[in-house]
Parts: sequence; structure tokens; C-alpha cells
Amino acid sequence: MARLVQKAKASGHKILIVDDTEEVVESTRLLLEKDGHDIQTAMNGPDAISKIQSWQPHLVILDYFMPGMTGEEVVTNVRPFDREVQILLQTGYASEKPPRQMLHKLDIQGYHDKSEGPEKLLIWVDASLKSYRQIDTINKSRRGLRHILDAVPEMYNLQTLEDLLLGVLEQMEGLLGGHSSLVAAIPEALNRSQGADDEPLQSALAITVSDEETLEIVAGTGRFTEMETLERLDDDLLKELKEYLRREDVTEDGTKTFIPLRVGPKPLGIVYFDRKSDIEYDMELLRMFAMQASQALENRRLFGMATEDDLTKVFLKAFFFKRMESEVAEASRYEYPVSLAIIDVDKFKTINDSLGHLVGDAVLKEVSAILRSGVRGHDFIGRFGGDEFVVALPHTDSPTAVEVLDRLRHKVELLTIPGNEAAKVTLSCGVATLLNDDGKRFLVKRPVLPRVVERLLSAADEVLYQSKQKGRNSVSAAPTIRLSEIVDSLEVARS
Ligand code: GH3
Ligand code: MG
Repeated sequence: MARLVQKAKASGHKILIVDDTEEVVESTRLLLEKDGHDIQTAMNGPDAISKIQSWQPHLVILDYFMPGMTGEEVVTNVRPFDREVQILLQTGYASEKPPRQMLHKLDIQGYHDKSEGPEKLLIWVDASLKSYRQIDTINKSRRGLRHILDAVPEMYNLQTLEDLLLGVLEQMEGLLGGHSSLVAAIPEALNRSQGADDEPLQSALAITVSDEETLEIVAGTGRFTEMETLERLDDDLLKELKEYLRREDVTEDGTKTFIPLRVGPKPLGIVYFDRKSDIEYDMELLRMFAMQASQALENRRLFGMATEDDLTKVFLKAFFFKRMESEVAEASRYEYPVSLAIIDVDKFKTINDSLGHLVGDAVLKEVSAILRSGVRGHDFIGRFGGDEFVVALPHTDSPTAVEVLDRLRHKVELLTIPGNEAAKVTLSCGVATLLNDDGKRFLVKRPVLPRVVERLLSAADEVLYQSKQKGRNSVSAAPTIRLSEIVDSLEVARS
């Protein structure tokens, strides 16, 4: 006959009943299943231990007297591998083993005398499960904190803004469990940086929030990975992003979570999660994470301000050459070529003189935007002065560097100058390449790195002059400089 028993709502808890008497096992099972617990049973100590290991119950109701292995021995065997499971020892002879003494002696959470009846057992079960949940929350928080501590140095190491923001999303997903998420930032917080297009970042989508405000969606995961989805974001979500950006705290709204990024009173941006409401996590952890992410973002912005030229958003000269020195050291250690190019705008004075400095500035901005978007992520650019740029191309030999520069030169030719649409902007370039490929290991010592860089620079400058001589709008390359050729004139160590 089919039993018409209404199934209780699942409690989400797993309980293992261990007793050598079948009737006790079955009656306890029926009692606990009414509360929606997930039940498994064992009739002896060794079976109980193996089920605790494989099934990981939250609570074990353990008979004290069992033939072969007693409940006490089971506890001693379980604790070395599971300190979290709650254990409720059961006996029919409480008087023989005083309960308080047992609780002190063994790592158990309750002691139930079978003669006290099912009502008392249920109270013990509820109390034990409550403790389990508290311990579980503490452990989750602890894991979350560990996650944050591990993520923080990684965040601060990320160089480009896009990597940083995508990293923030990925780390937050690690905290919350995987979901679709996006991060939007206000333009000032981004302060545009190297490796990015002039206006929005490569994958960013600028969305107009109000007449004078825009937010840029800088990175997305899950359903927000595709640009198409971002372009069709519903108005409600946009409105919410704008509203919650100004809030000080994390906001949960049904199935959505909004985490503002801010440094002090200044809003920087907002992280949005399609969060399902059934996932438990600690808001405090999210707050802490948001604080770290905001600080990393702000540091990235300050770093940009200190190292980048305001007009063109490429590195300032001094910072460029420091980076170039590190690059030369790496290239000589790992024996790969590194190229250095100087780019000079042709007849730039004429643009300034005929159309004014502001137009001149706009042209420099456009040229730098083309350079920045036209090189690879590992390449970097600096402003050498006036209308001159320097470009570092690691892992690039001389012929490849010439190809890259020619491509950039062609792209710049397509620019139109406001006020003189017929005029073309052209570039003259000189490139020098360093290579350590003699099969002997030469290591450039730190103090002489600037001198190696100077050698490269003067070689590039010489051929730039040739490009100008040839009639401009061209690229010239110096013969590749082998490190072995300059070892005598410089202090280069052989290893
Ligand atoms: P060439 O083809 O020989 O390079 O000719 P050129 O006219 O470009 O000569 P040069 O490179 O010597 O001229 C650079 C000019 O760039 C001189 C300077 O007034 C101008 N300049 C330097 N910095 C800036 C700037 O920030 N903005 C503007 N608009 N002009 C600048
Ligand atoms: Mg010039």
C-alpha cells in the first residue's frame, strides 16, 4: 500500500544514526525524517566511521554500548579527521556514565539518555544542528577572509586597469560562488591608462546615466561577457547601477547584489552580481573585499597620475626609461630580443604654427591613442619630449619591429586634422634592437643598465635622422646590436 505521508520540507541537514538495535535505528529515523533531515544509518562502529568519512554528516547520533567497538571508541577514531561533525552520544544507562563527566572527557556535543524519550532527543538534535550552523558560518567566514588575504597582493600586482577590474570580479565570484557579474566605473576613477584606447577601455561600454554623467562598464563575467548583452542592458538595471553607486554600503535586492566601490566619500564605481538568494555569505566579507578593490583601483589611478603624461597618457620619460632598463635586464637574462623605437611627428611645427597649439595638442593625443591601441600588451610607450614618442617592444626582433612601426605609421596617415582636412599627419621612426643570442650567457649588471639603454637610444636616434633625411614618413632600422659586441666597452658579466 502506498504511504500517503506528506514529505517534510528539506532542512538541508545530514544526520547519521548509529545503533546496534534495529528498532532504535528505525524509530529515530522516522522521528527525524519528519523534520526534513536527510538520514543515513549504521549498525556498528567501523561502518559509522566509514560513513562519516564518505558522507560527511552534520550530526551523528551515536549509541554508547555496541558490541565490537563502543561509541566512545568511535569518537576517538573520528575526531582526528573530522572536528566539525556534531556528536550526540546515546545510552540507556546514563547512571553508569555520568553525562557531565562524559561531555568533559570526550569531544562530543550532547549526551542523551534513551529513557528520557523522543521529545528530549529532538531538543538535543536542534541544539546540535544550531551549533553546527554557527561553526559552519565561522568556517565559511574564515575561508572568505583567507580568500581576501590571498587575493589582495594579486590585485595590487595587476598592471592594467582592465586586468585589475576583471581580477576583482573573479575574486568576488570566488567569494560568492560563480555568477554573472559586471563592474562599472566613473570615468575619473579610470584616468585612462596605457594599453587602452583613448576613450573607453578596449572592452568597455560607455553608458549614459544622465545628461552629464556616464558610467563605463569595464569588465563582465557570465552573461555579461558578451558585448551584445551589455549593449542591451535593461534600463532598470542601469538606473539601479546609478543609484547604488552613491550608496555607502552593499545593497541586496532580491536576486541582485550591488557593491559600491569608493574611497572615502568618493564613488569610483560599482560591482553588480546576479546573485541567487539561496547562497549564504557574509556581508562583512563583501564590504572588506570592496574596500580592498577600491583601494587597488585608486592606487592604480594615482600610479597613472604619477607615471603618465597628462596629455597623451603614455609614460613620462623618466618612468619609461626605468621600465626599459628592467626590460633590457630581462632580455639579456632570458636571451630574447628587445627593440626600442623613437617616433617623431613630421613637420609638427607647421601644424602648431598654422592651426594653433590646441590643434597641435589634439593631434598629439590622437597619435598617442593610435600608438597605444596599436601595440601589444607587453609593449610600452613613453613621451620623449614635444612631438617625440619612444616605444619599447620586448620579444621583438628588428624586422618585426619595422613591421609594427610601419603599421602604426599607416594608421596615423589616416588621421584628419580639424581645420585642415587635406593635410596628413605622418611619422618618422628609428628602431634599434638588442639581442643576447651568442649561446654564452651575458648578464648586464644593474649599474650599467642605463648605459646599455643609452646605446640603444642613440642607435635608434641615428636612424630616425636617416628617416627624416630620406624625406620623412618612413621607418629605418639600425643593425641589431649584439650584447657580445658591447661586452668590452660595458661591464657585462659572463656567467
Ligand atoms: P621634423 O619633421 O623635422 O620633426 O619637423 P618638426 O616641425 O616636427 O620639428 P620638431 O620635431 O623639432 O618640432 C617639434 C615641435 O613640437 C616644437 C614644439 O613647439 C612643439 N611642441 C612640443 N611640445 C608640444 C606640445 O605639448 N603641444 C604642442 N602643440 N606642441 C608641442
Ligand atoms: Mg617633429
